[in-house]
Amino acid sequence: MYRRVVIKIGSAVLTDKDGGVSRERIFNIATLVSKLHENGTEVILVSSGAVSAGYSKLQLDRNTIGNRQALASIGQSYLMSIYQKKFAKFGIDIAQILLTEADLDSRRRSENAKRTVDILLKNGVVPIINENDSVATDELVFGDNDQLSAHSTFYFDGDLLVILSDIDGYYDKNPRIYKDAKIIREVRKIEETELVQEVTPHHQFATGGIVTKLKSAKFLMERGKKMFLTSGFNLVDVETFLFTGKYQRGTLFL
Ligand code: ADP
Repeated sequence: MYRRVVIKIGSAVLTDKDGGVSRERIFNIATLVSKLHENGTEVILVSSGAVSAGYSKLQLDRNTIGNRQALASIGQSYLMSIYQKKFAKFGIDIAQILLTEADLDSRRRSENAKRTVDILLKNGVVPIINENDSVATDELVFGDNDQLSAHSTFYFDGDLLVILSDIDGYYDKNPRIYKDAKIIREVRKIEETELVQEVTPHHQFATGGIVTKLKSAKFLMERGKKMFLTSGFNLVDVETFLFTGKYQRGTLFL
């Protein structure tokens, strides 16, 4: 069993088909976290979805950075209120942690945040991390939660990063374009050429696409940590993987 895992949830996973926050998927995540707790695994979440959640409340034009930051600010508290309700059903408290890149760019600078995270985890609380989108300026932002979650895994001493995406793994080519694309089950080395592909996020609120996921994997692999990329729409694969090490669909980077 894992001692401490970080689970990153992509925007698409948190948004339902009508553009609202998917309460059902958040409930499913709470169920998974509660099972992990019963097994003695500590869980840190990294949650996207603030802009999308904000937009479900107020339809500002998302093309300006100022509006997106305002939407993130509206959506962040709304999203957290839903996490709080769903986790409360399992008797689990949650805590919000908003970070900028500068908070996590070295062991020394991340110490303060780590101390907070350690105290929360020791007390059974689930930290929910997001980038501080509403105030971060362009130069500061990670720009995507994939890399924020990789840094969180490393600096907060996680054993594993799980990325719950709208895609069930890493394919040998873009599966949205090539019907014959095949999922790669295990990756032990990432080539530089894979990191310079066109950035192709699928969902309208997604920012990363596959490249930021590969960069995150590389960052962790170079530091002896693992990353598992799988679908967040159905949590069977991630659950089986976390409890048995086996999986039907997903990509393990190690
Ligand atoms: P999330 O919101 O979960 O972070 P993204 O949309 O940012 O999701 O990234 C996942 C998307 O990356 C997939 O849905 C797919 O459209 C795209 N993609 C491009 N190339 C690949 C590939 N080789 N394997 C998997 N997904 C890919």
